[in-house]
Amino acid sequence: MSETVYAGGCLCGAVRYQVTGAVSNPCFCHCATCRRATGAPMVPWGTCARDAMRVTRGRLSEFRSSAQVWRGFCARCGTSLTYRHEARPAEIDVTLATLDDPTRLAPVMHLWVKDRLPWMEIGDSLPRHEGGVTGT
Ligand SMILES: [Zn+2]
Ligand SMILES: [Zn+2]
Repeated sequence: MSETVYAGGCLCGAVRYQVTGAVSNPCFCHCATCRRATGAPMVPWGTCARDAMRVTRGRLSEFRSSAQVWRGFCARCGTSLTYRHEARPAEIDVTLATLDDPTRLAPVMHLWVKDRLPWMEIGDSLPRHEGGVTGT
């Protein structure tokens, strides 16, 4: 049986990555930090095992956006690619919209809805959480 492989990368193509296996908890994050980091009102994320995510071209640059959080991006074009929290060292989150085929993984919930912008109306019936669901 072959494992599922998800490939993705940044806008300029300098950084490419691949995730092998399951991507869990696909979600929209409405938090203020994701907003700043990406310039978007909400960001779709999926979680995978740290060792299942591999950079296949270029180098992921990282920025510490809070005490325990590192955000990965392409230093050339600025595309936001990853999120990792030191409290969850075995996992890393990837921005679902940077997958080569973003239609393969649809978010199943909204997180940090308390930070949602008033003009960012949620038009689906997915579960909405005021904060995060993993405690991070
Ligand atoms: Zn790039
Ligand atoms: Zn967020």
